[in-house]
Amino acid sequence: MDQFDAVVVGAGAGGLFAAACLVNAGKSVLVVDDHDRVGGRATSYEIDGFIVNAGAIALKRGGLFEQIMTESGLEYDVRVPQPRTVFRVDGKIVDSEKGGLGLLLSGLTKSAAKIGAKFADARRGDLPDAQLSTKAWLNGFTRNRTVHGLFRNLCAVLFSANPQDLPARAFLSFFARSAATPIGFCPRGTIGIWNDLAGAIRAKGGEIRLHTRALRILTADGVATGVELEADGAKSTVKARTVISDAGVTATIALVGEAAMGGDYTARAAHTIRPTTMFNFYLATPTRVLETPALITLANTESLCLLGELTATCPEMAPPGWHLHVAYSIPKDSAKPLDPQAEIDTALAELRREYPAFEGARVLAATPMTGDWPASRTCPGYNMPQETPIPNLWNVGDSVIADGDGGTQACAHTGRKAADLAIAYMGG
Ligand SMILES: Cc1cc2nc3c(=O)[nH]c(=O)nc-3n(C[C@H](O)[C@H](O)[C@H](O)COP(=O)(O)OP(=O)(O)OC[C@H]3O[C@@H](n4cnc5c(N)ncnc54)[C@H](O)[C@@H]3O)c2cc1C
Repeated sequence: MDQFDAVVVGAGAGGLFAAACLVNAGKSVLVVDDHDRVGGRATSYEIDGFIVNAGAIALKRGGLFEQIMTESGLEYDVRVPQPRTVFRVDGKIVDSEKGGLGLLLSGLTKSAAKIGAKFADARRGDLPDAQLSTKAWLNGFTRNRTVHGLFRNLCAVLFSANPQDLPARAFLSFFARSAATPIGFCPRGTIGIWNDLAGAIRAKGGEIRLHTRALRILTADGVATGVELEADGAKSTVKARTVISDAGVTATIALVGEAAMGGDYTARAAHTIRPTTMFNFYLATPTRVLETPALITLANTESLCLLGELTATCPEMAPPGWHLHVAYSIPKDSAKPLDPQAEIDTALAELRREYPAFEGARVLAATPMTGDWPASRTCPGYNMPQETPIPNLWNVGDSVIADGDGGTQACAHTGRKAADLAIAYMGG
């Protein structure tokens, strides 16, 4: 039977960051993932010579993500677009880094200064009540349709949530803590970064087994002792001093079993966790369509929220002569049953209304991320702690991120914290 200091279930962002921190600290680590590639919901595929990202495209520079890459001896192969992010309001582009949101709001509502003051309060830690939604918070200042459209799409882009579902506290704390960090794209697709990290984990003796599913996290006397695995139809068991799960809180409970996790924790998770939905589009055109290489947050749409040409910064992502675009949409009403085809049709209609040149575009992918493969395993503001009732089992990934954090950078924070806790549990 194999024995490891840590077994990591899932080679998504959180799992790989945790594994990298553990091997960098000299620990023996096994990572298992049931897919044929690393990266989880932020992996990439090739379609007819185009590189298509499943989830994350915009990777943060200058934070813990980049730091763990450096500690692992890696170059951070992320190219920053210039400008990085813009808003598009009534057909006009506004650079979000040149006074962007404040400037835009001052042209749209008399309450711009009051809204700006609330962002400043958030930076000082003064945040609204946890029950107040972003929509209700914004209604306290303005009913302006364009302002609401802009905030709706910011919530959609950053959190895959509608403003009526997202606590204002989560929205404002993200702006206070994370929004200004620069972003960039990996020219090999986001999987390029995960392949680099996986290579560094293996180079330091870590093992990564793909096509391998964790069936159960084994416990004895309230402590995790190992993981039961299945690969090629064969079952096996590995022993572990600690276990880290990147499967999401709900799936982790199923792997351990409700009895071992305890009724209180299970009930709290069921009450807290709220998975979100997002549609991910990739389109190719033979001519340039967008007026900027930046990621564009739209204001005059109700479904489509973000659009960008990746080949403007990373021409390697498409065959010569082609322009590759990414777009995201989220359903307007998350309370309604999901009709994926209707959502796709609405988003593409909005895209063609905003930019008629997309009329003849090749739609390479139109992918709903929902259900067991969600945009986010829980809406920000509805997260669980990383710790579980099992003292040597921790969760990583986007169901356990801290308020104010988001995306793969947040997953890096969860990976580092879980690794630190595991190392402390093992006595250093
Ligand atoms: C459309 C979209 C766009 C996004 N854009 C950005 C962006 O631009 N920038 C950004 O930073 N973030 C972005 N994100 C968010 C980012 O992709 C996620 O935060 C991140 O990928 C979540 O990673 P995770 O650690 O939770 O792991 P996951 O991606 O959930 O990976 C977990 C892995 O574990 C495997 N697994 C689960 N259970 C088992 C088991 N029992 N046995 C074996 N393996 C198992 C899964 O198959 C999966 O491979 C975006 C997300 C979406 C959906």
